[in-house]
Amino acid sequence: MTDDRRYLLAFCQALPELLLVTRAQGAEAALEEAAERVRAGTPVLHVLPRLGIPPHVLTGTGPGRRAGDMLAPLPRPASGETYRCPDGACGLEVPRAPGGPIPKERCWLRNRPLTAGEA
Ligand SMILES: [Zn+2]
Repeated sequence: MTDDRRYLLAFCQALPELLLVTRAQGAEAALEEAAERVRAGTPVLHVLPRLGIPPHVLTGTGPGRRAGDMLAPLPRPASGETYRCPDGACGLEVPRAPGGPIPKERCWLRNRPLTAGEA
């Protein structure tokens, strides 16, 4: 996965949290604009500085976050389904074990639920 894709996925999954933070700062509109630009294809790393968000906040490699929090590799079940970002916007893939619970993750960038497919 390229850095762009890593940041895109991390940004997508961090959006609800970022919204809370920017709302508290009254900077909600800036985040919405940034998300809009990312949806239009702007690399996440280009919009972060305007939001005042250091990249390590997303990737979990810096202080204040558990290392690998968001980008830890997902375990692969032998079979079952994989839930994916509906249109591949952020590349999120969450495997679901046979008979296991439906993943609760969501694509926040598109604000849409994941779609199920073959693993
Ligand atoms: Zn997504």
